[in-house]
Amino acid sequence: MIAETIFVGTELLLGNIVNTNATYLAQELAKLGISSYYQTVVGDNKERLKGCIETALSRSDIVILSGGLGPTQDDITKETAAEVFGMELLPDESCKADLLAYFAGKNMQMPECNYKQAMIPKGATVLRNANGTAPGIYMEKDGKIQILLPGPPVELRPMFAEQVIPLLKKEQKEVIVSVMVKACGISESDVAQRLSDLITGCGDVTVAPYAKTGEVHLRVTTRAGSEKDAEKRIKPVIKEIKSKLGDCVYTTHEDVTLEKAVVDLLVANDLTVTTVESCTGGLIAARLINVPGVSSVFKDGYVTYSNRAKRKIVGVKRHTLDKYGAVSEQVVKEMLAGGSAYRKADVVVAVSGIAGPDGGTEEKPVGLVYIGCSVCGEMTVKKYRFFGNREKIRESSVAQALVLMRRCVLEYYGKNTFGKVKK
Ligand code: ATP
Ligand code: MG
Repeated sequence: MIAETIFVGTELLLGNIVNTNATYLAQELAKLGISSYYQTVVGDNKERLKGCIETALSRSDIVILSGGLGPTQDDITKETAAEVFGMELLPDESCKADLLAYFAGKNMQMPECNYKQAMIPKGATVLRNANGTAPGIYMEKDGKIQILLPGPPVELRPMFAEQVIPLLKKEQKEVIVSVMVKACGISESDVAQRLSDLITGCGDVTVAPYAKTGEVHLRVTTRAGSEKDAEKRIKPVIKEIKSKLGDCVYTTHEDVTLEKAVVDLLVANDLTVTTVESCTGGLIAARLINVPGVSSVFKDGYVTYSNRAKRKIVGVKRHTLDKYGAVSEQVVKEMLAGGSAYRKADVVVAVSGIAGPDGGTEEKPVGLVYIGCSVCGEMTVKKYRFFGNREKIRESSVAQALVLMRRCVLEYYGKNTFGKVKK
């Protein structure tokens, strides 16, 4: 099955808004295994939009349109799409009731122009909009499908996920199963080398790698007549990836992030954590705190950006700062020791680095970052060299700090086979 997307809106053409619906829909279609060869952006102009829809229908089975379903004069998507299918617009009582309820809920009288949103092409399926006024539309004619979705992403995404995906799955003759394998602490080229047979292989299962800061994700996809058959095909490939990448693989679940994997590891082993951050300025704490449930393990997060803070808050010695400089292995060790001594967290992570653009020297260039982690007093400090601008260097530091935390906890357990860490 082939689908294509059309994004309607002059503000998209002018670059006033970013076309995030394009990325979202492209990713979702890929996950469903639906091929997509074209994406079009067109302004709020009826003739041009009509031309785009006709062209799209001539080469794709499904055309998904986003935007232009609002109540105003320049919202013309529904009228144009219905015209292309030769469908008449008729008032729909349940849509009207939804609209009236929406405005009543806001204690407002419904403006006259909103009645236009309750006009639905004859024979179309209405996609109810729980987050706004414009209903979505799913309509079929002569084996071709048009799907109309509202422009605001907060409306489009849940509508697509909850209502469109089930309809598209019904259309598909084949089932697509796709599993995301996420690995960290390994470079993309290393992954490519270890998995070269699988990545280039032309078997039934495709393995596509994507590099993310500090991580490599692999999308493993296959098609089959039934979900069971697809899963049977995919399982041995996942097993092979795991055996080749070892414990660098931290999840095979799409929605598990690296920070979630780290927090889960801490929670499972009942390990508390404290962060002591210099150049990352609280970003490590922020990523950990993104994870619901972190409250049972997260103790303190310190931003010790200045030398004074490093001395006063976590007890780094003046002498160490003078002798080795703030960006050094010795200082990071003292940041770790101070953290664990005063805060008594089981795991402490500390970072000190030069994020730039200024402050670099030949000996200590921009991008030099020391990251340390201690697990129950056992310390590891590593030296890194990151590239890019300040933002990128800080982002890389955060990712590698999470990777190092995970590695240190796993290794501690490897050595301490008694299971739980003694406190
Ligand atoms: P409304 O009822 O809000 O007018 P609509 O379906 O008519 O919805 P548009 O008028 O095209 O949609 O866009 C409304 C808003 O939705 C835009 O101002 C923009 O914030 C957002 N939006 C529209 N298209 C996109 C897109 N492709 N990607 C991201 N955001 C978008
Ligand atoms: Mg609009």
